[in-house]
Amino acid sequence: MVDYLSYFERSIDALKQERRYRVFADLERQVGRFPKAMLHGADGAKEVTVWCSNDYLGMGQHPDVIQAMSHAARTMGAGAGGTRNISGNHHAIIELEDELADLHDKEAALVFTSGYVSNLAGIATIARLLPDCVILSDALNHNSMIEGVRASGADKRIWRHNDLAHLEDLLVRAGNRPKLIAFESVYSMDGDIAPIGAICDLAEKYDAMTYIDEVHAVGMYGLRGGGIAQREGVAHRIDVIEGTLAKAFGTLGGYIAGRKAVVDAVRSHAPGFIFTTTLPPPVAAAATASVRHLKASQSERQGQQQAVHATKAALASSGLPLIPSETHIVPLLVGDADLCKRASDLLLDRHGIYIQPINYPTVQRGTERLRITPTPFHDAALVEQLRRALVDVWNELGLPLGKPVAERDHPSLTVAAGG
Ligand code: PLP
Repeated sequence: MVDYLSYFERSIDALKQERRYRVFADLERQVGRFPKAMLHGADGAKEVTVWCSNDYLGMGQHPDVIQAMSHAARTMGAGAGGTRNISGNHHAIIELEDELADLHDKEAALVFTSGYVSNLAGIATIARLLPDCVILSDALNHNSMIEGVRASGADKRIWRHNDLAHLEDLLVRAGNRPKLIAFESVYSMDGDIAPIGAICDLAEKYDAMTYIDEVHAVGMYGLRGGGIAQREGVAHRIDVIEGTLAKAFGTLGGYIAGRKAVVDAVRSHAPGFIFTTTLPPPVAAAATASVRHLKASQSERQGQQQAVHATKAALASSGLPLIPSETHIVPLLVGDADLCKRASDLLLDRHGIYIQPINYPTVQRGTERLRITPTPFHDAALVEQLRRALVDVWNELGLPLGKPVAERDHPSLTVAAGG
């Protein structure tokens, strides 16, 4: 007889032995009190401060967004009624796609159930439609992009992270074949930014298509929240912009935006679009309200940048090992899976601060870290509380203070396992 259960149990035991077993906090967010949340545990619930949310601007609790969501639920109902292929479009999803195309100044946009699905379906379908395509993929691309590359069945070449010379070399070698360059704008674990304009130069020189993941940038960068490409005035040079509605826009869903023919072809051929139910009207309407708000309002972006600046300055002043980051992502190097988990546990138990440990395979072994994401709602008092708590935890665990992060520990200088 096959002992089926034992295979699953052993896989979990192995993760526990490697200190990679993930435990997720049971949090109940509270509208009006962000970034505070109630943490539920065996002894009841207690209030904690969340410092690792990807609801980067707190839009998940914005009154306009909540109002749009509840109004849509009352007027259009809770569900989408099935796949668009069978049941047609609901009006809220059309409005959302129009809003997103406009956000990125593109001809069209297509919404998927998540950012993950949009990358998987988008990259796989685009590459499959290009005969004999070669995909050139940055070494630190997100797993959803890697899975898209895999699912396409196309030849792939991995270029060293943000290394233009390596990318050019691979483009030259690919010759006249159709080429798709796939990369991110903000890399979410290090907070570094791709040289987008220079990548577009190479794409134009070697006649390649470009596909950029702006998941960690949309809503937060650019005059209208269109991302880093918008901020740098190069969005028109990118063929496909991919984003999420689940981070700075505070809701759920993913999308691609680009030329009509590209978007229509993905709509017509991508199984990850065709065979699954679309977002329900309340979620689509909430996302539209959020995108609309952040197109016009600068205060959330400014508030976030101020909080980020204050947090980096405070942690640096105490010698905490910040990995240099150009963005709103504030990574603090621990460099050991067990210590990283213990630091996170101590922050929670002793200081009521929640920061999820980031371990392998999300980052490379030896670069385990706490990933801090200040929002406009993290004020000076919370920043000071965080600084003190981190110093206490660093001292308790015997971690060094005042030691700069060595270049070799900066993950963007190394090649990721996944590629
Ligand atoms: N792309 C990147 C770079 C991400 O970090 C993530 C997820 O966290 C995704 C895509 C997937 O987005 P979503 O959470 O909307 O599925």
